[in-house]
Amino acid sequence: MKDLIFDEFQNSVDSCLLRHKSILDILSKLQESESKLNRSVVKAVTSCGCVKIKAEKQGINYRLNDDSLNKLNLDDLDIPLSSHLEGCVCDNCRKIIERELGNHLFYVTSLCNSLDINLYDVFLSEYKNITTFDKINLR
Ligand SMILES: [Zn+2]
Repeated sequence: MKDLIFDEFQNSVDSCLLRHKSILDILSKLQESESKLNRSVVKAVTSCGCVKIKAEKQGINYRLNDDSLNKLNLDDLDIPLSSHLEGCVCDNCRKIIERELGNHLFYVTSLCNSLDINLYDVFLSEYKNITTFDKINLR
């Protein structure tokens, strides 16, 4: 069922893309949509103020010695990582950010279409990567 939704979305994007069929147009529109997405998040901070950024150094607090190296369990890692965000996006900012995410997803899908890549296969592959490697696959 989920693969049908992905395929239907991918087919719809293909039928909507009339003006920007060129890979050059798609790549530039993809970059533009990412910039607009980033800007919508920045404006939530700087114009609306519903969220604040409070950033500081982050680190992994884990002391390794010879004994613990042999018994290293990734689940025992104490990783106090922060998003550096305070607050929650308001309804208006959420609406804008969601719109920009959708626009960006449109151009990601357009890129998939141009290169004959199935979007659902990409999601499945990435899902397998993040669930197989768990914390080893730190990003
Ligand atoms: Zn807001």
